[in-house]
Amino acid sequence: MKVVALLLAGGLGRRFGEKKQFIKLKGEPLFQHSINTVNRIDLIDRIILVLPEEDLERIKVFSFKPVEKVAGGKERQDSVYNGLKAVKEADVVVIHDTARPFATEKMFVEGIKNVKNGWDGSITGIPARDTVKEVENGTVVKTLDRDRLFIVQTPQTFSYKKLLDAHHKAREKGILGTDDSYLMEKAGYRITTNRGSPLNFKITTREDLILAECLIRKKLT
Ligand code: C5P
Repeated sequence: MKVVALLLAGGLGRRFGEKKQFIKLKGEPLFQHSINTVNRIDLIDRIILVLPEEDLERIKVFSFKPVEKVAGGKERQDSVYNGLKAVKEADVVVIHDTARPFATEKMFVEGIKNVKNGWDGSITGIPARDTVKEVENGTVVKTLDRDRLFIVQTPQTFSYKKLLDAHHKAREKGILGTDDSYLMEKAGYRITTNRGSPLNFKITTREDLILAECLIRKKLT
């Protein structure tokens, strides 16, 4: 079975204020941490790295596994779609936001194994710890049942053919999702979960970056 890792570093950093994927953490740009993790996983054959179009040429990548750089799109979903088209031949594709530098090898491997065992997809995540409520214009309208809630992270692993099908259907219907699992669910595919970690957070704000530096200093990851 051919397994391809599709690593996303195509964001423009609008919320963060600059392209966070190139900020140095432990002496290396953020995206390189995910490349390093994937390089340690025997089950993965090659890497597609999605970058902003204007950075394609100048960005250097260090990898033992083959890496192909691909231009991203306007939304995350467009970047994934561009990456998927570049994959061309694979059985399994693992999608990961490089803004999560602390994803472990185990998270990748568990997801790949679930798909190899017949699931259409497997998403990394953790059970909700906090109570989650729906709020409309400042008024609490609903309390969700915490026992049924799962906080979703990446890596997310899918059958390549089925994910491509889900993306084509989403484009036809104009569906925009914040993750790929949503498009798979909409297309009727069966997705399972694999264990994530609170440490596998996404660097979204400056505070997250400070937290990441603290974790590294304390050698907690
Ligand atoms: O913006 P956010 O942090 O939610 O993005 C999640 C991941 O998707 C990041 O790794 C980012 O680089 C990537 N992304 C992308 N193309 C976009 C938007 C986001 O590859 N157009």
